[in-house]
Amino acid sequence: GANIKSNDSLIHILQICEGCSGGCTFCCTKSARGSLNSYPIEDIVEEARIAVENGCKELQVTAQDTACFGEDSGESFATLLEKLATIDGDFRIRVGMMHPKSLKRQLDDVIRVFKQYDKIYNFIHLPVQTGSPKVLEQMNRLHTLDEFKEMVGLFRKEIPSLSLATDIIVGYPTETDDDFNQTLELIEEIKPDIIHISKYMHRPTAKSNTLEEIPHNVMKERSHKLNDLKTKVMLENNRNYEGSIQNVLITSEGVSGGYVGYTDSYKNIIIDEAVIGEFMKVEIVEGRRTYLLAKSINKY
Ligand code: SF4
Repeated sequence: GANIKSNDSLIHILQICEGCSGGCTFCCTKSARGSLNSYPIEDIVEEARIAVENGCKELQVTAQDTACFGEDSGESFATLLEKLATIDGDFRIRVGMMHPKSLKRQLDDVIRVFKQYDKIYNFIHLPVQTGSPKVLEQMNRLHTLDEFKEMVGLFRKEIPSLSLATDIIVGYPTETDDDFNQTLELIEEIKPDIIHISKYMHRPTAKSNTLEEIPHNVMKERSHKLNDLKTKVMLENNRNYEGSIQNVLITSEGVSGGYVGYTDSYKNIIIDEAVIGEFMKVEIVEGRRTYLLAKSINKY
């Protein structure tokens, strides 16, 4: 796959809050980090402005759940995003993980800001964790599966080039074969661009610790099945880009040669020749599982 050497001055990690306002049963971060503490909006914007002034080309807006920003301080995430997007300069904003339960409260505002500002990558990371409405509820995710699908649908309707990342936990203690099959169906249905899979594990202080884990061979088998589907879906998605022209930002050298960049939809590309930190137009030659192989279109 495309392993990436990070380039610290080009990419600025912009932490916007600590903790979260969720109470997911499988999670131990909550007790480790405590409840939500959003940083003052002016401080965040100032930090971003200075980073851009110093040559940063990509702001990575980061938190356990970016969308819950401001729930404690009376601010809104959409407002913060808009302020960041109006900073002068040629740069991109990558919005980190949004918990669906936090996004749903301000969906229209967030979509509007994404749509209005080209600086924001057309990319969302919206973890769903399971395709089973029952397990979703038992995980205390505080939204329904239909709400998740509606959010993805609305985002895609307004921003057709959107790419979607999601997370799945395989083998939550109450997950039956039938529940797991619903996860496979969900992935087939929504075809995410990126799927992070993790196997369920008891974590210290997590509420789900008192439940009995499912047998390890079952866990392994499910994880294997989901991985196969992930490979298929990601490859299909990436093949759809073949022949298209994309605007990319080159962010680093590839570890196995070439250069790594990202399209306006935060699709990962690899190209032979490029200049780090610059934007360029490329043609996608081939869609591979984890990246798009590109060539410069100035070279014709
Ligand atoms: S998984 Fe849930 S409880 Fe844990 S950090 Fe994320 S939102 Fe908070």
